[in-house]
Amino acid sequence: MKAYEQFHSRSLQDRDAFWRDEARLIDWHAPFDAVLDYSRPPFAKWFVGGRTNLCHNAVDRHVPARGEQPALIYISTETNQSKTYSYAALFDEVNAVAALLKAQGVARGDRVLIYMPMIAEAVFAMLACTRLGAIHSVVFGGFAAASLATRIDDARPRLLVTADAGMRAHKAIPYKPLVDEALRIARHPPEKVIVVDRGIDRGFARTAGRDLDYAELRNAHDGARVPCEWLESSEPSYILFTSGTTGQPKGVQRDTGGHAVALASSMRRIFCLEPGETMFTTSDIGWVVGHSYIVYGPLINGSPSVMYEGLPIQPDPGIWWKIVEENRVKTMFSSPTATRVLKKHDPAYIRKHDLGSLEYLFLAGEPLDEPTARWASDALGVAIVDNYWQTESGWPILAAQLGVEDTPRKLGSPSFPVYGYDVTLVDALTGRDVGTNEKGVIAIEPPLPPGCMTTVWGNDERFVSTYFSTIPGRQLYSTFDWATRDDDGYYFVLGRTDDVINVAGHRIGTREIEEAVQAHSGIAEVAVVGVRDEVKGQVPIAFAVAKDASRVADDAGRDAMAREVQQTVDRELGAIARPARVHFVTLLPKTRSGKLLRRSIQALAEARDPGDLTTIEDPAALEQIRKALAST
Ligand code: AMP
Repeated sequence: MKAYEQFHSRSLQDRDAFWRDEARLIDWHAPFDAVLDYSRPPFAKWFVGGRTNLCHNAVDRHVPARGEQPALIYISTETNQSKTYSYAALFDEVNAVAALLKAQGVARGDRVLIYMPMIAEAVFAMLACTRLGAIHSVVFGGFAAASLATRIDDARPRLLVTADAGMRAHKAIPYKPLVDEALRIARHPPEKVIVVDRGIDRGFARTAGRDLDYAELRNAHDGARVPCEWLESSEPSYILFTSGTTGQPKGVQRDTGGHAVALASSMRRIFCLEPGETMFTTSDIGWVVGHSYIVYGPLINGSPSVMYEGLPIQPDPGIWWKIVEENRVKTMFSSPTATRVLKKHDPAYIRKHDLGSLEYLFLAGEPLDEPTARWASDALGVAIVDNYWQTESGWPILAAQLGVEDTPRKLGSPSFPVYGYDVTLVDALTGRDVGTNEKGVIAIEPPLPPGCMTTVWGNDERFVSTYFSTIPGRQLYSTFDWATRDDDGYYFVLGRTDDVINVAGHRIGTREIEEAVQAHSGIAEVAVVGVRDEVKGQVPIAFAVAKDASRVADDAGRDAMAREVQQTVDRELGAIARPARVHFVTLLPKTRSGKLLRRSIQALAEARDPGDLTTIEDPAALEQIRKALAST
């Protein structure tokens, strides 16, 4: 492990020189004066005074050398369309979209909300924003109108870009009506909405004066050229909302220069991709993995990126391997949940394809269980690289860095801290570093490296109080994940320390789901916990107290009410947060001070010991939970 250790240690001991070298991987319009300004801990400003632009680095700079090479390879098995955009074509599209946004008054520092399915126009819109120095806020298309409205009110976008509809399993998923509803409830709705009309939802309503047609505007600006805005390195590039323990999602804010450098560097040192070699990331542009490794990472690297709209098993479970074969994919990035789905199918679907180009499968977003890792490794015969990170970090925190050294992997472990991250495991109660094989919270000694969140959008105080104030006696960044480290220095992630659950790699706060359930007028109180699920890792289940007990007095009543609650969550938050089951009780287990005993409920739901119950107000409440679980 010599090369890795030296690399990691240099990144911390000789930080400025290390990052000065990595910063050469991107173009700077004006050089930076200092590598790091850390005069106001824990706020870190990287590459101070340097001027650059993300879109220039992702698109423009590649046009002279690889203008005719593929940049974005769009494939949809939903609409059976595919289209490859060369760097030159991407440059044209992005310029036209930047021109149309500019004509609508979008300027540097303005926010643009992007609520779109997996179509190439979403990437054009993101890059057009960064070209103009506007801040994009992409909201995952699975979020419902009310969640979208909350995010709109926090980001206060000048403009929103959407589409008529998405598609899942060949079924239309309307987007535009949700946008209309969100704008109706939002307190700070944008003035203009640009709609990509895919011709899926033919009858969608248009609001005159507000809704504009993407294709029409794009064609009006065909051939336009819009110069890149040269932003100071710390100026924000985007906001991406993420769940926490409160019902109010946090806007993770990322800078420009540090973000570009971190992603460029990770492409070489972690994802082992040379310019011109293809990456296929199966995430959605609404998540951080999509931002970093469908859009910015590969494009900054000059690599073709595959963007796929569709299911992994459609038209058959060999589709991903067909894409790998046809596009000579070298590096693939997916999730343990998707791998578990594919594992259920005949390996003949894999053998049918020539996977000779494929060298790496990166998996992240949730714990990678050993059987799944072993299956993928055997079935594909490529390196399986478990990597651990978060929306906040923007790029891996723990991972094997095979571009630095080919260190052996251990199943179930995302290996070691990535360079730039001073990772430590600490005792949650005392704040002391824990020893080998002891459980601790994964914490990072600030300053956070380039590419990590720089603050919570519009709320510096929340950045400090949420992330840097929870470890006793020390100002450390908390990831809110537990882990152990073995004798060889390998980390093993054990799960969240807070009330956040992870459904199919998507992070959802149980408080958020509880608030959504409570939007149902018949519910008095509710507790939501995450329980283990064989495919999705975890699923939410709810224990609810009905206002009118007679409505849930028999099976038929309970079923009807449970369905209503699920529909309420679909409407308020989105189907990804829908409780898999809703149980009815008349009382929830709480401490004498009124705090919900979520851990105890979760333990019972997973058939484990509920733990220390000395503070419980009424033990009968736990009995009810037991009974409700037994009756299913
Ligand atoms: P998100 O911000 O939505 O990407 O979720 C980040 C969370 O997902 C982390 O805080 C972890 O709880 C979990 N996570 C991400 N990657 C891994 C991994 N490789 N192993 C275990 N948990 C992970």
